[in-house]
Amino acid sequence: MRALTLVHLYPREMNIYGDTGNVLVLRKRLQWRGLPVEVAPVSVGDPLPADVDIVLGGGGQDAAQGEIGEDFHARAADLQAMADDGVVVLAICGTYQMLGHEFVTQEGRHISGAGVLDVVTHGQAERLIGNNVVDTPAAGRLVGYENHSGLTTLGPGVTPLGRTPTGRGNNGTDGTEGAVRDNVFGTYLHGPVLAKSPRFADHLLELAYARRGQQVELEPLDDALPEQAAAVAVGRPR
Ligand code: GLN
Repeated sequence: MRALTLVHLYPREMNIYGDTGNVLVLRKRLQWRGLPVEVAPVSVGDPLPADVDIVLGGGGQDAAQGEIGEDFHARAADLQAMADDGVVVLAICGTYQMLGHEFVTQEGRHISGAGVLDVVTHGQAERLIGNNVVDTPAAGRLVGYENHSGLTTLGPGVTPLGRTPTGRGNNGTDGTEGAVRDNVFGTYLHGPVLAKSPRFADHLLELAYARRGQQVELEPLDDALPEQAAAVAVGRPR
């Protein structure tokens, strides 16, 4: 079986609050099942590998988003084509914002996005910070935390990833969190989110195999520890 190819976008620049752990979680959940996987780090100026199955991108400070902005925007057509082709994408916070049309920082700096997700984000002085849970139709409850200045508004081309009963989510007003279109998932959940949301991790893997037309039955794993960690996190004050 050909290995699943995971692209890790900007591992140095866009990696705050443990988001690199999402790559580790997916790699480990495949390896524990004896399924082949390859991880391709892609930084500024690097070519994208052929046959990408899953793209992962983490959070970053405004400055880092500015640093990678031009390179990211230059990949817009590739990212659009991959999204249209059903490639699975998990974009956390800063990368989520940059998959949208534009991120305007609180200082008024315009960072053009890839336009893959029909969302726009405007930074503000107050940061939205705290432990957070998101109830999703796709994979049940996700557990992580948020820390962002950006307020994201969803357009008609996406649906929310879910709703947050306790957090601030996309914009602190409409109760939505994240955005989805096809197999592209954006969220503000750091943590890494997949470490305490194993069902969501497997959902992403199943989507990647389904896109290839491969009926892969993912053998159940012992998720007692991630579920226990999620229960502890949910019990914590925001
Ligand atoms: N810099 C962006 C913001 O403040 C994203 C932050 C992040 O990735 N945690 O909203």
